[in-house]
Amino acid sequence: MQKLELQSFMQGLVRRNPGQPEFHQAVEEVAEKLIPFINENQKYLDARILERMTEPDRVISFRVTWQDDEGSIRVNRGHRVQFNGAIGPYKGGLRFDKSVTLGTLKFLGFEQVLKNSLTTLPMGGAKGGSDFNPKGKSDGEIMRFCQAFMTELYRHIGKDTDVPAGDIGVGGREVSYMYGQYRRIKNEFTGVLTGKNLAFGGSNARTEATGYGSVYFAREMLAVRNDDFKGKIAAVSGSGNVAQYTAEKLIQLGATVVTMSDRGGFLHDPEGINEEKLAHIQDLKNVQRASLAEYTKKYPSATYTADARPWSVKVDLAFPSATQNELDENDAETLMKNGCILVCEGANMPSTIGAIKVFEKHHIMYGPGKAANAGGVAISGLEMTQNSMRLQWSFEEVDEKLQDIMKKIHSKCVKYGQEDGWVDYVKGANIGGFVKVADALLAYGVI
Ligand code: GLU
Repeated sequence: MQKLELQSFMQGLVRRNPGQPEFHQAVEEVAEKLIPFINENQKYLDARILERMTEPDRVISFRVTWQDDEGSIRVNRGHRVQFNGAIGPYKGGLRFDKSVTLGTLKFLGFEQVLKNSLTTLPMGGAKGGSDFNPKGKSDGEIMRFCQAFMTELYRHIGKDTDVPAGDIGVGGREVSYMYGQYRRIKNEFTGVLTGKNLAFGGSNARTEATGYGSVYFAREMLAVRNDDFKGKIAAVSGSGNVAQYTAEKLIQLGATVVTMSDRGGFLHDPEGINEEKLAHIQDLKNVQRASLAEYTKKYPSATYTADARPWSVKVDLAFPSATQNELDENDAETLMKNGCILVCEGANMPSTIGAIKVFEKHHIMYGPGKAANAGGVAISGLEMTQNSMRLQWSFEEVDEKLQDIMKKIHSKCVKYGQEDGWVDYVKGANIGGFVKVADALLAYGVI
């Protein structure tokens, strides 16, 4: 069997998946680290495991028809990419955002396969969503869209088949509307979605899990160098669920959080966003659905810079927690120049390939999203466990399990990514996530 070679592998992938740049990017980042490993492991090479793992099990696309408040009929497209189910039911979020394309969902589904494998829980990888733009929509419109979306999706999912959850544009409110519709159509009460309300089968700490988990992962990275958060200045990007709980945990563990951001720009509070200020941000974003610029009215020591991202601020730690490709090569250079020692991704693929190369060159602590933000889906996995057992663990119990899982993910990254004097977390996460799925595929035979 001929050895794999990155360039020709990528050419084939691009040819088979035209016009899907994010998917190409996600695969390239993984393939670059996996190909040398696969070439040394004949069994994976002979069985064409990388080719199989970069082709989704199936892609489902459907029309979503709904009515807006004026009574006009609106049409959107919905998708569910069931990427790989080798090690458990398909699992992954739903994203509602105007930027959503099939290519975005394939990149997210592919990342989810490796991420879910890293959690140590039995979950395959999937992603879904729609180009529906929730911005500016009324509550009634959101409800009607969610119900229409589920009216199509329900036939493809199930507690042992495929268990969706939230992602950008899909939070507790949207999950509730979709779960209500599923229950109504199927007349069954099962854990078919995660991220549910605590009143009907949700897990404690699920809301906090992605952000908290990312900080726990960073804590492990720092511990390798006998360091911790005390006295460190941190930049967080985003202001959604992940960013909010990243900031909260960082504050609790002694770091000073000086930035957050939204689609319009970024907020810089040199005095630090404390718990009281964070509560104001949560009110602005979750209740008022207003711009972060409003913050400066209440706290004039802060500035809001429109159309910019926070990476120019001098910090020790960076937590990109907004969206894909929000941190490019120039941003990475600026962070390095300003003495940043750790980048930990709460979002999925927020750093471009160019940015990652800069981090690697400087051997800084760089936790890629598929490892660092796996806490969210891990607690989704534990929500499934609790639903199957028909019980609910306490916040403390779940938080303890989350800390333990993040430790295990970190150890796996170190196991496969240890280099001379530094840890290549990208390599560690990619190989660590790959092996379990690859071994399952090998065991199944030709499938
Ligand atoms: N959307 C989250 C992620 O990117 C969570 C998925 C889930 O809980 O299933 O991992």
